[in-house]
Amino acid sequence: MSKRLPNPRLAKIHRNYTIEETAKLFVVHKNTVGNWIKQGLPVCGKKRPFLIMGRDLQVFLEAKRVKNKKSCKADEIYCVRCRAPKKPAADLIEYRVITDTLGNLVAICPDCASIMNRRISLAKLKQNSAFMSITQPLAGLHITACVNPSVNCDFKIGAESHAQTSS
Ligand SMILES: [Zn+2]
Repeated sequence: MSKRLPNPRLAKIHRNYTIEETAKLFVVHKNTVGNWIKQGLPVCGKKRPFLIMGRDLQVFLEAKRVKNKKSCKADEIYCVRCRAPKKPAADLIEYRVITDTLGNLVAICPDCASIMNRRISLAKLKQNSAFMSITQPLAGLHITACVNPSVNCDFKIGAESHAQTSS
């Protein structure tokens, strides 16, 4: 559904681009660039031709990418192999504790059977009815109020793989 996002590195930091040049550079429609501006991409000047700084383009598109990665729905986990959010079977999800307030959901992708990971705060997990079945054993755990709500669906392969990293 979501198209591949343009590569932010195509923009040269020390260059300015008009909307037309930006569209050409990223092979998108001029209207798409217009949408980016509406979404907060900064432009220089109040009159046409607007100039967009390469640095702003990089920052904006990079942020957009990050946002896109986190677009799993409440009951989905990102499958790195399928490159898409997948809805795992509820009984094939496991919650692995990282800290008192944060853990990893580990599940099997229904399509390619590879392991999927989703970083999730305990508070969020408890709010999430999609994962209700696995929240029950956690009912007795203490929850603090200061969990970071932006930590959501971070699909880095879990913390447990750190141990195997060779230097
Ligand atoms: Zn998959």
